[in-house]
Amino acid sequence: MRFRCQNCNSIYDEPRMLCPKCGGLILTYYPKPKALNICNEYEGVWKYRDNLPPIPINYVISLYEGNTPLFKIKNFTKKIKYRGKIYVKDETRNPTGSFRDRVATVIVSHALYVDAKKLVCATDGNTGASIAAYAAKAGIECSAIVPKNADYGKILQMLAYGAEILEYGEIIDEAVLKALEVALTEKYYQATAELNPLSIEGLKTIAYEIYEVLGKVPDWLVIPTGSGLTLLSTILGFKELHSLSLVSKKPKFLIVQSLACSPIVDFIEGSKVERRPRKHIPGLDVCKPMIYTHIVNLIKEYECRGVRINYVEALNYVDVVAKLEGLFLEPAAAAAFAGLAKAVKEAIIEPGDEVVVLASATGLKASMLYAKEPSRKKYIPKLTGLNTKALILEILKAKGPIHGYAIWKELGLMLSVQAVYQHLEELRRKGLVKVKVVGRKKLYSLTDKGLQFSEILGKI
Ligand SMILES: [Zn+2]
Repeated sequence: MRFRCQNCNSIYDEPRMLCPKCGGLILTYYPKPKALNICNEYEGVWKYRDNLPPIPINYVISLYEGNTPLFKIKNFTKKIKYRGKIYVKDETRNPTGSFRDRVATVIVSHALYVDAKKLVCATDGNTGASIAAYAAKAGIECSAIVPKNADYGKILQMLAYGAEILEYGEIIDEAVLKALEVALTEKYYQATAELNPLSIEGLKTIAYEIYEVLGKVPDWLVIPTGSGLTLLSTILGFKELHSLSLVSKKPKFLIVQSLACSPIVDFIEGSKVERRPRKHIPGLDVCKPMIYTHIVNLIKEYECRGVRINYVEALNYVDVVAKLEGLFLEPAAAAAFAGLAKAVKEAIIEPGDEVVVLASATGLKASMLYAKEPSRKKYIPKLTGLNTKALILEILKAKGPIHGYAIWKELGLMLSVQAVYQHLEELRRKGLVKVKVVGRKKLYSLTDKGLQFSEILGKI
């Protein structure tokens, strides 16, 4: 297994994304089979082992990534008034909650195979969480270089998996350059997805899996796009299927980028957006993708359309998709759904077309979604003690006069005896319960007011 420049055919032993001689895109070079072979005896994406880099199986680090479900979403389709089928490729089901586990399994397995002791990875979130998890399993040290805007939820994941975290730069572009430097000077294995072409090998399995389920190429693929790596990899996956004569049609691509930073959509539309909001969508904010030239060359061969989504729209669609489809997505993933809604409204996507939208990562990772603490009261009304008091009134109505301990037993040990006496005292002060002392025992029963109140409660 080697790495070959697609432009000047130079061969390299180590994985690198761009050719130092000509700037061409480098891809992993290995004998390609003449079919899409499925080897179900292997874990995760490695069921496509014959179509992936030939890393000896005893070096493969898998957490059962990939094989994610592809399913129709009818409620969302109805909501956006689309007359056609929309499928979700649900990548939230991956081991660390994002599609980047497909990248990590290939890169970390290769790192183990070449006996790397430490790897470096520039990341604004998902890739770092994935690489850190797989590195932990492989027993390889992981250094993650994160920009200031990296999502704290994903940093927590990296910390949990034992990665060393270093902050550098404002956005991912700067962190990627730092990772280049660190790998060179410290001799660490380069695990940054945008700098290692093995990432493409992992991500292309998204195309394989969609084909495997649908038995064909969908009309449209909706891809939330930052660096463009997933877009490029998916296109290359479909190109492979085409070269294997499994499909003849080319899919169309709806590329969804952040309004704050949309170089690929700018290229498609041939214009830049003048006014940009300050608020970025984490995961989509790559202003100068490393492989920009190669992406724009590749998408010229395909029908690609672009839409831009702002931060507020992305957040709104986190809500929409969760409430309609039970899918909790991070804003970057929800942006794809917002983009799809926009494309349908603007008739970019025609009725009747079959659409697959990539739900790239789960909302559980996105700490900004939890930063709504001040408005907690608005969303979560507190339950009062009424339920317990209502139960006590019911017991008194059926069994009173009765002593406190017996009430506590009737309640089925849901709370302490002291708490039952506290409730009884509060009910007495409200005039709903009366107490009669018989010998050394206090017997509780309902007052007339208490009886009326419990009857009203019974009706509601
Ligand atoms: Zn070259």
